[in-house]
Amino acid sequence: MKENYLSDKELETEGKTIKVMVELYCRDHHDCQSPPCAECCELIEYAIARIKQCPLKEQRTTCGKCEIHCYKPAMKKQIKEVMRYAGPRMLKAHPLLTAKHILKGMKKK
Ligand SMILES: [Zn+2]
Repeated sequence: MKENYLSDKELETEGKTIKVMVELYCRDHHDCQSPPCAECCELIEYAIARIKQCPLKEQRTTCGKCEIHCYKPAMKKQIKEVMRYAGPRMLKAHPLLTAKHILKGMKKK
């Protein structure tokens, strides 16, 4: 996982949230010494790449509510599972990141 993968501030926050969530999921689901494992790294990089390429960048809330489902089906299924698992746990482990994420999700135009 390259650390300087993300450039602008917003991307960084969203990318960080995804990374933390996937790591949480990986730790509990994959037998991995230092999560994320290779498979999960791929998922994180994929998710970040999708955020970067999102055509709705400006008006977008979060990918969960995005109307253009840009994730390919297999990845989408995987990320959904991660979100479902890590979502409630995130609030405890990373309240600030989660709050930002939720606030962003509520911000509708
Ligand atoms: Zn994993």
